[in-house]
Amino acid sequence: MENYTKRENITILWGKHKGPLIYSNTFVIDCGKKQIIIDPGGESVELKKLSEQENFIVNTHFHGDHRRMNYIFTKSDFFAPEPDAPMIESNERFIEAVGITDKELQKQWLYVVKTVYNITEHKIAGTFKDNEYVIDKSYGLKSIGLPGHTQGHSGFYFESASLALITDIDLTPFGPWYGNEVSDIDIFLESIEKVKHIESKYFITSHSNTIYTKEQLLPLLDNFASYIDRREKALLKLIETKNSLSLDELATYGIIYPRSSLANNPALLFFEKKMLEKHIKRLGIKIGV
Ligand SMILES: [Zn+2]
Repeated sequence: MENYTKRENITILWGKHKGPLIYSNTFVIDCGKKQIIIDPGGESVELKKLSEQENFIVNTHFHGDHRRMNYIFTKSDFFAPEPDAPMIESNERFIEAVGITDKELQKQWLYVVKTVYNITEHKIAGTFKDNEYVIDKSYGLKSIGLPGHTQGHSGFYFESASLALITDIDLTPFGPWYGNEVSDIDIFLESIEKVKHIESKYFITSHSNTIYTKEQLLPLLDNFASYIDRREKALLKLIETKNSLSLDELATYGIIYPRSSLANNPALLFFEKKMLEKHIKRLGIKIGV
């Protein structure tokens, strides 16, 4: 097996967290005959082997980096959080949830989603909500609803390993990401608070190779949440000095993404704008047009 860590009956296949295409960590739960595979995000020999049998695929939310390898699992049933299931069943719903309304842009994104990211549409066999057993009770896998990043964004508690997956509350130096139409800053903050009260010995995210103890996690969660405040302070300061800037202009200053990364990347600029829009609404401020 490639780059992996084993904890009880859970195998963590570490994703590739750097580079132009990021991949999430994948969690394989050995349930005897069938395996539960959470977020087949990475390219690995192990996943290819697993795809030859009938297994259960569970996606934590609809984002592409968490279902990059869904397409190889042609013999498996798929499960997803209820609000995100339509976006996994239909790429058009996916694009709408991202917030792309322009028809021409929708066409371009659909092409990229299919050809660059290999995102395929899958019929969802079963959905789950917060604190519900996934598939059925006999598998002992319970979801933890952590909305905000997307509406259905979910984590899981792996009882056998006292390990909680907190998915894209990912504690990365980028900070929280809420760049979709369906993302919500305040609900994201509530989910960060919720994580503090999860009773688990260990915690893991989808985007780093670290397993945290609760003691290690708590200050990291506070720091992660504080990005929201810092971003708003930076935005207010910018508006104070240049009060007639439009959203398009504000987005070029790099309040959320590094300024240098925005210049030649229309996708990042789109997400910067989406996130700033949410801050402007949250703060109830007026900007230039
Ligand atoms: Zn995500």
